[in-house]
Amino acid sequence: MTEKSSSEAIRERHASAQARATDDRAFAAWIDGETYETDETVSTYDPVVDEQITSVSVCDASDVEAAVEAAWDAYEGEWNGTSPPERSRLLFEWIDALKGQVDELALLECLDTGKPITDARAEVEGAIDTLEYYASACRTQTSKTIETGDNLHLYTRHEPYGVVGQITPWNFPIWAAAWKLGPALAAGNCSVLKPSATTPLTTIRMAQLSRDILPEGVINVIPGTGRKTGGPLVEHDDVRKVSFTGSVSVGEHVMKSAAEHIAPVTLELGGKSPFIVFPDADLETVVTAAADGIYYSTGEICDAFSRVLVHEDVASEFIERFVSRAKEYVLGDPLNEETTMGPLTSEEQFETVADYVDIGQEKGATLRTGGDRPSDPELADGWYVEPVVFTDVDNDMRIATEEIFGPVQTIQTFGSYEEAMKLANDTEFGLAAGIGTESTDIVHRAAADLEAGLVYVNEYGPILPDAPYGGFKQSGIGKDLGGEALDHYRQTKSVYVNLDDPTL
Ligand code: NAD
Repeated sequence: MTEKSSSEAIRERHASAQARATDDRAFAAWIDGETYETDETVSTYDPVVDEQITSVSVCDASDVEAAVEAAWDAYEGEWNGTSPPERSRLLFEWIDALKGQVDELALLECLDTGKPITDARAEVEGAIDTLEYYASACRTQTSKTIETGDNLHLYTRHEPYGVVGQITPWNFPIWAAAWKLGPALAAGNCSVLKPSATTPLTTIRMAQLSRDILPEGVINVIPGTGRKTGGPLVEHDDVRKVSFTGSVSVGEHVMKSAAEHIAPVTLELGGKSPFIVFPDADLETVVTAAADGIYYSTGEICDAFSRVLVHEDVASEFIERFVSRAKEYVLGDPLNEETTMGPLTSEEQFETVADYVDIGQEKGATLRTGGDRPSDPELADGWYVEPVVFTDVDNDMRIATEEIFGPVQTIQTFGSYEEAMKLANDTEFGLAAGIGTESTDIVHRAAADLEAGLVYVNEYGPILPDAPYGGFKQSGIGKDLGGEALDHYRQTKSVYVNLDDPTL
């Protein structure tokens, strides 16, 4: 096939998939149970062919106002009086509607983000699993009675905040939306959720699929940009709780805005997570974990294992195997089931990764493989980059300390357990960490010594809704997922009831 014809073929394939995924759909805001058009729109792009998929509403401060008002009306009108079993039933009904559209949602996610279709489908299923966890959790919420003696009945109640503001990033759109909506709704709140302007499609569709199931105004989705839409949401006095997932710099700003009206915040921020290969590790196992940890989702993952620390006794063999594993990734059309790595999500992200590849080389790191665009002419218009491996890296280099958010692995060596821990913890971040070893002693000691909210041993992933997820240090405050997330969306009230001696 000639260069022209192969690039035309992929364009045609994507044009037809885009039409299938978006025809007869309005990608506008979703406010008060209906589609809500705004004056301004922004395009969302398919990063494989760099073409517009569709245009999406941009909400401004007045639209944010309408969404917050609709959410309060829903809360005060119906949702606050809905019993936990009834909330659970409604959430399961919504989940059934989502289950009926898994293929549609996976296709939308694949086109909007560039993720391989198999990963997109798994993430849609992960989102549904998360919602199922919280739909069940509705019915198991308990409070406590505090023993005080016979003259006082002292107990606690958990109450929702009312209306919560939630903001998600572009890298895991539907999954992140489920992490936010699941616990917020289960706890009895109504939500105003702002997805990223880069990848808003599945979040909007998810809300549309709640039509005639959830009461109007329980879920409101306000697509738009950070400044125009996100700013007014977190600044809004009637938003009683803010949950944000994104970068550290924006998280800091969000926290300051929420502080202006004393709204509590949950922050899920960036990372620079280490994976430590001890000398007794099973090399095949740890190569897989370290590769999955940085190359899944083209490295656009908050908890990516972007720093491998390998013991010097096994470093050369590990590096040799890791470099050949990096070369095995199948870069291709994400619509093909065989593709294991798609493009980066946007031109901006592509430029960022290209810059870091240059920065690493300028500072003396050795580029062992990757960093170029693939030679396949079919991929010429997409934001593809071949998986990168750097060695001869140290902690003074920006590639070892800054979040790149792309398929760039940096490998450093260590000589002792203490050195490994020092290197691993020498970062402002603390989202995740990985350990590769066959020794139970090392597993438990390192799991305790690592400053991270999540530790994987001999693997990367999975993420289960059952367990709290969130970072230490500048990787965040509070948790998404697990019972902890539910607690973040509830306030506790203590009730003192005087019990006089009974007189008949
Ligand atoms: P970002 O911080 O640029 O944007 C995140 C969201 O905030 C977007 O919806 C954006 O529109 C919005 N936003 C931007 N400026 C705002 C403002 N002034 N006020 C309110 N909202 C604003 O992050 P991103 O580029 O979308 O996502 C990548 C980042 O997210 C990475 O740092 C990654 O590590 C992090 N992330 C963290 C987790 C986690 O669970 N810890 C998960 C996924 C992504």
